[in-house]
Amino acid sequence: MLYTARFAQPRVIVIGGGIAGLASALQLAPLPVTLLAKSPLGAEASTPLAQGGIACALGAGDAPALHAADTLAAAAGLGDPDIASRVTAEAPACIEDLCRRGVQFDRDAAGGLALGLEAAHSHHRIVHAGGDATGRAVIDGLISSVRATPSIEILENVRATDLVVQDGRVTGVRIAQGDKQHILPARGVVLATGGVGGLYAHTTNPLGATGSGLALASRAGAILRDLEFVQFHPTAIAIGNASGNDPLPLATEALRGEGAVLLNGRGERFMDRIPGGELAPRDVVTRAVWREIEAGETVVLDARAAVGQRFPKRFPSVAEFCRRAGLDPVKQPIPVRPAAHYHMGGVAVDGRGRTSVPGLWACGEVAATGLHGANRLASNSLLEALAFARWIASDIAGVDHVRIGRTVPPVSAAASAADDAARVAEIRGLMTSAVGVIRDDAGLARAMSQLGAIAWGRRGRAANLALVGLFVAAAARERRESRGAHFRSDYSTPVDAYARPIELTLADLQERVDALPIQYPIARGA
Ligand SMILES: Cc1cc2nc3c(=O)[nH]c(=O)nc-3n(C[C@H](O)[C@H](O)[C@H](O)COP(=O)(O)OP(=O)(O)OC[C@H]3O[C@@H](n4cnc5c(N)ncnc54)[C@H](O)[C@@H]3O)c2cc1C
Repeated sequence: MLYTARFAQPRVIVIGGGIAGLASALQLAPLPVTLLAKSPLGAEASTPLAQGGIACALGAGDAPALHAADTLAAAAGLGDPDIASRVTAEAPACIEDLCRRGVQFDRDAAGGLALGLEAAHSHHRIVHAGGDATGRAVIDGLISSVRATPSIEILENVRATDLVVQDGRVTGVRIAQGDKQHILPARGVVLATGGVGGLYAHTTNPLGATGSGLALASRAGAILRDLEFVQFHPTAIAIGNASGNDPLPLATEALRGEGAVLLNGRGERFMDRIPGGELAPRDVVTRAVWREIEAGETVVLDARAAVGQRFPKRFPSVAEFCRRAGLDPVKQPIPVRPAAHYHMGGVAVDGRGRTSVPGLWACGEVAATGLHGANRLASNSLLEALAFARWIASDIAGVDHVRIGRTVPPVSAAASAADDAARVAEIRGLMTSAVGVIRDDAGLARAMSQLGAIAWGRRGRAANLALVGLFVAAAARERRESRGAHFRSDYSTPVDAYARPIELTLADLQERVDALPIQYPIARGA
């Protein structure tokens, strides 16, 4: 590999090829940027899977302040009003930028942007493309722009395995391609590595979304925030990991909006007993479905009466997923289950996207900006990535070059692939059963011990996953209340004393692990 020669001059390194990484790289132009992604651009990212759209207060009677108010209501007391106000005000400029880059959003009859309505938004404000294919349209537009921007070098199928820290500042990235490793010096690093859904046995995220950015940042000394807040979607199509559906496709909320009902194996409409029924908030529906499944029931979404023959035309993506699994949703109910969908928590950043470690910024789902608090309002995440990419770029442009010095010592060999695969399966099962939809102290302590045992003394993929899982479990154990997407069966209501974010560093995590009945030191290094 020629990286060391090609990159003798430090550039800004952006890690991640989803909306956050692509938008950051574009906003940084003409500053020289190296954009690296562990897969080809547009693959193995959540961005192309986004269906609903991007929230933007453009409609008559709507305003950014109303959008911000809805955002803060969803955040359940943990949203940052300043960030909500700034992000929602930035939305029109973000959409305009995407239009300029050739993204074709759906239009209304008058030629204006068509604005959809989604749960918990008080106004029609969801900008979308290709009906339910917004993410694909956005990422295709951004990839074309990135490929046409001379200041951006693209490295695909290259994984960031470590951040280089000198004198308390991030000065480079260790990368791996196959079994080759190199160090890229950097004048600044933007983490844009996405979410953590792949830590769970059932997820709507690409399986590579395992929080690698959280592991990288924490090992560099960064503060992580709000990690316990994992949003589970109530109706992922459960046609089975067994039949190769891993990750699980979504049965969109709009189906329930059209009157589809949730039934258990005895044909009972169990949401009848809950205020709001099938249209209750996402976390409420998720817990109801989860409880049925835990009680040994199967759960189906029955759209036969409400949608019937209109199904293939009205919900083409869902119809196609069902067809591939040999199921006809016009005539048959769709098996569903909750699945890990979005991580509100991440690397703590300020209003410029700066982490607590100089030289390191974070953007997109890997970051905790304060916008989502304890729960994300639908269609706010793509917007958050676009807005912060703009602010991060202007912040980096104003930061002085840093001196690049020595490289870090080589790491020891990674665990064998087979060993790793078995441990990854173990971690996904454990996260689902003990750090999932409904949590309690005993389960979280057990998860921490088992994850500690996997993280301890090892390197490689499983050790990184276990470390990230440990962070989520430790934060969930510390929050002795239920709030937003975090539900504890042993503390089932919100508690005023916990109306604040929980922040953890690697050193804090080590303390929490040391306090367990069984103790494991946590391995450092990727
Ligand atoms: C099914 C689904 C539907 C959704 N619908 C919507 C919606 O309608 N509206 C909305 O606002 N949000 C939606 N979301 C959420 C939204 O899509 C994500 O939050 C957003 O796309 C995250 O973008 P990102 O760039 O942060 O991460 P991603 O798009 O996941 O990209 C992460 C990138 O980082 C790379 N990477 C990770 N680790 C490394 C590493 N160590 N080295 C190198 N590269 C690495 C990955 O390969 C990938 O390229 C949805 C999510 C899902 C799963």
